[in-house]
Amino acid sequence: MRYVAILLASAAPLFAADADLILHNGKIVTVDNRLSIQQAVAVRSGTIIAVGTDAAVLQAERGPKTEVIDLRARTVLPGLVDAHVHALEAGLSEFRAPLPPLDSFAAVQQFIRKQAARAPTGAWIVVPRTFPTRLKEMRMPTREVLDIDQDHPVLFDASYVVILNSYALSLCGIDRHTPNPPGGEIVKDANGEPNGILKNAQSLVKGLDRSAHFTESEKLDALEQQLKRYLAAGLTTVGDRAVDAEQIDLYRKLKAAGRLPVRAVLTWRPDGSRPAAELQRQIEAAPYTTSTGDSWLKFGTFKLTLDGGMTIGTAYQRYPYGPFGRQLYGKTDPDDRGQLFIPPDKLLAVMRAARDRGWQLTTHDQGGGAVDTFLDTLEALDWEKPIAPTRSHVMHASFQSPEAIARMKKLGILADVQAAWLYLDAPALEQVFGYEGMRYFYPLRSYIDGGVILAAGSDHMIGHDKNTAVNPYNPFLSMWTEVTRLTNRGKAIHPEERITRIEALKSHTIWAAWLQFAENERGSIEPGKLADMVVIDRDYLTCPETQIKDIQPLLTMLNGRIAHRAPAFH
Ligand SMILES: [Zn+2]
Repeated sequence: MRYVAILLASAAPLFAADADLILHNGKIVTVDNRLSIQQAVAVRSGTIIAVGTDAAVLQAERGPKTEVIDLRARTVLPGLVDAHVHALEAGLSEFRAPLPPLDSFAAVQQFIRKQAARAPTGAWIVVPRTFPTRLKEMRMPTREVLDIDQDHPVLFDASYVVILNSYALSLCGIDRHTPNPPGGEIVKDANGEPNGILKNAQSLVKGLDRSAHFTESEKLDALEQQLKRYLAAGLTTVGDRAVDAEQIDLYRKLKAAGRLPVRAVLTWRPDGSRPAAELQRQIEAAPYTTSTGDSWLKFGTFKLTLDGGMTIGTAYQRYPYGPFGRQLYGKTDPDDRGQLFIPPDKLLAVMRAARDRGWQLTTHDQGGGAVDTFLDTLEALDWEKPIAPTRSHVMHASFQSPEAIARMKKLGILADVQAAWLYLDAPALEQVFGYEGMRYFYPLRSYIDGGVILAAGSDHMIGHDKNTAVNPYNPFLSMWTEVTRLTNRGKAIHPEERITRIEALKSHTIWAAWLQFAENERGSIEPGKLADMVVIDRDYLTCPETQIKDIQPLLTMLNGRIAHRAPAFH
């Protein structure tokens, strides 16, 4: 018989009580230091107490009251982490009615017509969050596309960019003479007329109340339901990446009522457009900082939004967007590199205040120019006091460079990455930047080889379905993309940046837990850790590569309790 180590939690009492639960006859992918595969795992009081062979675990831990589940050779993974979601926004997005898939101008126009048929004349119609990179036309719509309806003001929401139809432009008093707001742009056509695209200029939109007037109890329901969907997807912890005071309150209420379905780590994002002094006061006044809370609900990171989005051409790049940027994003200035929302001196002052208050730091930094700017800031802070212990990280960092990765390693900076964007947006982005320009687009191999820890997430913000949402939050789709680098059009984008299945799994488990200062309590299946695990319907390590994205969770366990059971598990 081969040698088997049975490890007992150091906290276990001298006369060990029986396990509450034993899973056996399985393939337990532990993600421990040795990457060991085991057969059985025992749980007591929400904690893993033993991992090993069937015989050893059953013999040592089984008692008369122990529930025993025969896995029948199924695979078990540590509970998965999505390091980047926006749960409330996503939960509310289809709370009242399902959203149609908006993947072409025709679909957008059909949506507008449908809304127009039941909205009173003059009432606003909002086309929900849609990115031009994901439209068949690969083109930012202009007002003509939205002028399909003449009786209502229409706003197309592309996140930091919105597009208005002609009715809405005149309602808001925007014409060829309207000056650009500070930091924003009213994009003009060849004749100097506004073409409908407003970049970072939403302040010009008048009379539109976008708060959909959900009651607090509706918001609590929407948040809880979304967190339950995460659980069904195999996730046991999520990082919610831009909470404000209201969302913090909602999370606390769910927890107090025993309605928090998954663990949540909150990223606090104040409004970065406020003056530096005001932000510094907010930081000093806030009664929380990194790690305030407990294993169910705690604070993670302090965040500012530094640049725009690569899907809308406002990410702040190292180089101009070039000719295809004109089509995809409706750009008129060929030298445009995107937008940096916060000047470097203000960024440094605010980040210093947050660092001094004990925060882990991040910025939304999509373009390479924004990544470099944030690294400059972190380097300046590092001169004052080593920054590495804060586990601060770039967020998205879609366009990387070998130089930036080397700086990250030197400073001890981590990366928060979203493979779904490679899957969905790379085909359009390749048209803008060329294949070579995509060389360091989500360069996961370069990160790992360069000694940078990465945490994977989805940036889920709109829609409920795990595979069709913006952005899809199916963690197996994310891991499949990390392993294959295939887009939804079937092309592998720089396959030299592929990572292994184990590395992809780590990006959704132990590395993500590391980013969240939780590697000692979760992220692997080891004695002493919280019993968060997911049983899946096929072997993640050996199934055909194309099937990784199709893996379905059967049981999701949190604290040793079965929190979600798929009908397929019996
Ligand atoms: Zn986000």
